[in-house]
This record gives sequence, structure tokens and C-alpha cells, in this order.
Amino acid sequence: MDRQIFDAIVIGAGIAGATSGAHLSATHRVALLEAEDSAGYHTTGRSAAIWILSYGSADARILTGASRSFFEAPPAGFTEVSLAHARPVLTLASEQDRTELEASLDEGRVPITLDAARAMVPAIRADHTVAAAIEYDSFDIDVAALHQGFLKLLRSRGGDLSLRSQAGRIWYEAGLWHAETAGGDIFAAPVIVNAAGAWGDVVAKMAGVRAIGLQPKRRTALIIDPGQYDTANWPMVADIGHSWYVRPEARSKLMVSPADETDSEPCDAQPDELDVAIAIDRMQQALDIPVNRVEHRWAGLRSFTRDRGLAIGASEMPGFYWFCGQGGYGIQTAPAAGRLLAQLVRGEEPDADLRAALAPTNPLRFAA
Ligand SMILES: Cc1cc2nc3c(=O)[nH]c(=O)nc-3n(C[C@H](O)[C@H](O)[C@H](O)COP(=O)(O)OP(=O)(O)OC[C@H]3O[C@@H](n4cnc5c(N)ncnc54)[C@H](O)[C@@H]3O)c2cc1C
Repeated sequence: MDRQIFDAIVIGAGIAGATSGAHLSATHRVALLEAEDSAGYHTTGRSAAIWILSYGSADARILTGASRSFFEAPPAGFTEVSLAHARPVLTLASEQDRTELEASLDEGRVPITLDAARAMVPAIRADHTVAAAIEYDSFDIDVAALHQGFLKLLRSRGGDLSLRSQAGRIWYEAGLWHAETAGGDIFAAPVIVNAAGAWGDVVAKMAGVRAIGLQPKRRTALIIDPGQYDTANWPMVADIGHSWYVRPEARSKLMVSPADETDSEPCDAQPDELDVAIAIDRMQQALDIPVNRVEHRWAGLRSFTRDRGLAIGASEMPGFYWFCGQGGYGIQTAPAAGRLLAQLVRGEEPDADLRAALAPTNPLRFAA
């Protein structure tokens, strides 16, 4: 069997593998292995594609903030389209969770009157919402352009993307990590990056590295026709309890999610009809939007560590790096998180804007 030697192997070509592989390929010859026929088939291709600074764990917020300038002004030649499109986030509260909304206000999320909220989203039910707040600095992300941009960058720097290349056996021998694919190809390198999303612990165990307790959780999304409403310029709308959200999709449609988090094994996640019904019910308690037909539905796995922070950096085994636990913020954190991973692999001092994320994302925090 042929053995191809690289400087680094990256397992998984979702956004995590694409970003870390591209950043790393500035100094390393990278082999990016993807099990599926296409990169981004799993969680990356199923996201809601929004950037919200206030969202997620403390380390995710640092990496989200540090990624902003990349979305707004990517390097020349990275993409021909805009990666970021302004999309404020409107958060609603009913009487019972008004206090929670008030407690969440800060310089990013500011209160607005119900009249102002209804001017933006006329479907808000008068008998439900008693308070509203808005974040103006959020935006939609063009995930496909971001993902393709990083894959293109990887290739332009001599990196190699292998599709239909599931690493089925991984071992460490004579200072090199070896990954053997189902087709019998063997890739070897002193560095291996685990960017396998929901399969992160599976890949670690295969390599003889201690698992960190990743838990994939299914999230459902559906597309509906909002009938009489012109939603193209609506903000994203969510409740303060994170139990549902909607966002405009493809100019005249709405994406709805019940914000579900159902534990799952790593798999090709499929939507459950009950979650679809729950999404519609929760949305309709707050928004007066009839749903005659669900045009499309899907589900994806958001994979969390035990403390819901990311896992970026070295493992207990030489040359084996984690890049997992992206949860519900893997797209909005990707540019900065990939940069951090590459700097750790090179043994460099992380950039100033990333240093605060170093300790809370260190995978060795799970060693105990
Ligand atoms: C409904 C929904 C809404 C979301 N909304 C947002 C949002 O608004 N903003 C945001 O930032 N994030 C959002 N997310 C989260 C975001 O999509 C994820 O955090 C991100 O896509 C994770 O990327 P990943 O590369 O880690 O995983 P994946 O995209 O799943 O990639 C992992 C890849 O590894 C491959 N793989 C696994 N094992 C092997 C192996 N042994 N050999 C080779 N390849 C292997 C898999 O085939 C897969 O392609 C959302 C997710 C969902 C489901």
C-alpha cells in the first residue's frame, strides 16, 4: 500500500477542517481527509448561518468577536461575494420571562418599544410579547462562500483535499501519525488535527487518545412560506428563553427552529416530525403566521463538550490536536478558531486577540 507523507493530516472537511487546514497550510503541507462525497455534507451544510456576538460560551464569544473583521473584510482573492449581510436579532419576552430579558441587556443588546418591534415584524402577537430588545451588529454569514474560500486557500497553498476518504484506522508509529482510509490509502504526518465534528471522540478513540466527552445534539430547522408578510428585511426573531427562532431565508421564506438539543449518536441527522410541529407551535405563540405547508426540513448535529466551550489544542499524545466542540457557534468562530489552532500547532504565541481563549479552550481541561 502507498504511504503518502505530509506535514499535517486534518480529519474532517467541515468548516473546522477547512479553516484549520487552510491556516495551517501557510507553513505545513496538509492532507485534508473527508469521509463523505462532498465537504460540508454534515453540520456545516445545515446551519442557520448567523453571527451573534452575545451567543454561546465565554470562549466562543471571544472567538466570535475575533472573527468579525475576517467576515467583514476577508483577504483579497478569498471570495468574490460578501461574506456578511446585516441581520439584527430581535429578542422577545412574554410576561413570565420579562426579567430574564431585562437582565440580558448590555451595550450590545438594547431595549426597544413594542411599537418599534412591530414596525419591523408586524406578525408579533399583542397578547404574547411584553418586552423586546435588539442587537444591531449581528449578520447573516454566507457559509458556502466561507467554506469554499478556506478550501480554495488550502489548495492554493499546496494542500490536498481527499473526499470519500474516511479514516478508519489511525495509529502513531516512529514519530508519525498514520491514517488509513477505507480505500486502503495511508496518509502519514507528524501532526494530526481532529476536526471530525460529531465524530470527534470516535476519531480520538481510534487513535488511542482519551475522549473528551463530546455530545452531539440534534437541532431541527424548517422552511415555511410566511404568507402575507414580506419578510426579506425582517431581523432574526427569537425568544429570550432560546426555545425557538425564525430568520428570513432566500428573500421570501422563513426558516424556523425549535432550538432543540436532543442527544444523538454521531450520524446523518434527520428531522423528527414532533420537533417540526413544536417549532411551528412555539413560533405561533409569539408570531401570527399561518403555516399551510412546510416546504423543507432538516436537522444537524451540534456537538458540545461538557462545559460547552470549544476544544482547541494539544492532547496528551504528541502531535495529536483537537479542534472540536464547536456546538452552535462553529461558523461564527471559524476564522479566529482556525487561526488559533494553527498557531498552537506551530508552537507560536497566539495573537493578542486570541490569548483569552487559550485556557478555556484547552482540551487538557478534561483530563481529570
Ligand atoms: C440547525 C443548525 C443551526 C446552526 N446555526 C449556526 C449559526 O447560526 N451560527 C454558527 O456559527 N453555527 C451554527 N450552527 C453550528 C455549526 O453549523 C457547527 O458548529 C459547525 O458546522 C461544525 O463544523 P465542523 O466542521 O466541526 O463539523 P462538520 O461540518 O460536521 O464536519 C465534520 C466532518 O468530519 C467528517 N468526518 C468524521 N469522521 C471522519 C473520519 N473518520 N474520516 C474522515 N472524515 C470524517 C464528517 O464527514 C464531517 O464532514 C448550527 C448548526 C445547526 C445544526
